[in-house]
Amino acid sequence: MTTETYDSSKFLHLEEISISPETEQLLKEAEALYLENFDGRTWYGRCIFLSWYCSIGDCKFCFRTTQKHKIKHPEMSRRTMGSALLEALFCKLFGWRIEFLTGGYGIMSFSELLKIIKNVSLVYGDKIWLNLGVMSKEHLESIRPYVKGICASMETLTPQVHEYVCPNKPIKPYDQMFMELEGFKKSIAVIVGLGDQIEDMRYLFEFIEKHQLDRITLYALKPVKGTEYTKGPSVDEYLQWLTRLRIRFPQLEIIAGTNLRRCEEAGYLMKAGANAITKFPATKQFGTAKAKIVEKLIKEEGRKFISNLTELPEIDWIAEIDKLNIEEKYKEEMKEKLNLYLDKFKNPVDEDSTYFD
Ligand code: SF4
Repeated sequence: MTTETYDSSKFLHLEEISISPETEQLLKEAEALYLENFDGRTWYGRCIFLSWYCSIGDCKFCFRTTQKHKIKHPEMSRRTMGSALLEALFCKLFGWRIEFLTGGYGIMSFSELLKIIKNVSLVYGDKIWLNLGVMSKEHLESIRPYVKGICASMETLTPQVHEYVCPNKPIKPYDQMFMELEGFKKSIAVIVGLGDQIEDMRYLFEFIEKHQLDRITLYALKPVKGTEYTKGPSVDEYLQWLTRLRIRFPQLEIIAGTNLRRCEEAGYLMKAGANAITKFPATKQFGTAKAKIVEKLIKEEGRKFISNLTELPEIDWIAEIDKLNIEEKYKEEMKEKLNLYLDKFKNPVDEDSTYFD
């Protein structure tokens, strides 16, 4: 993992955002539909990453593609149980929702995964969402006590774009899994900016209808150095997708990704009818100027923001860990990692995170 020094010129500023008359109109419609169908409660969704490895490793936009040559051993690139569980605890105590637990393909054995899934759910105090690729029926049964929904990272539903961008992660197995999935909520994640045209949204709409999805996460592509992508969508382009999605599906839960560089779009994401934001690097950015801006922009849209990105509350962290219903050894692992995070929360530094925002 690398970090770049904070450089203000790389960041999108609110006053630079330009919205076309067509998008203005879509925003009005989308906002009205949001207000008709939801109560304004808005949250930050946290993806908990389990690994930086992926055995597929060749999706053309993905940072794992550029890392593959460096990471040959999945076990070397894994998150420890302690840090995954600490993130789950932050989610619980800061009012973040676990967007999903995720990682690349082939990161660990299923029995190891199951242990993490179970413990994250115990720490969080609720069932969680998973985004860990196509799962067999047998594995789905094993995770059922801890998991409420399955998210599939489809990236794009446009057949020819998908074939090019994700040559070894075909749509079909996900389609099949969703056809057979019973008793779980369903969601997909899609990236805007991979080469789809606005007309291609029809493939997304068809997929949502076919599988009666409960939730969609949209991301604006964040180009990763070393891939062929050098530019993400403009705010206007991204809003076209979000608003059209909201207008077509007024009651769908829509989660909008934003990253550190473009997070001053947060107010517009609300106008577009998003229920929540995700991908903002909240642990690295807790209490920073950018985190404060994000909260402010969301609240200025009349939303009740139920997550905390800025104020470190008085918490007896050791007592919180001690009362968890998990094995002692995991509590010890959490305690070992705790200060690394708390130091960051107490001393916010404005910086850019290359891979995880
Ligand atoms: S499957 Fe997911 S993690 Fe693996 S290379 Fe593709 S996008 Fe990246």
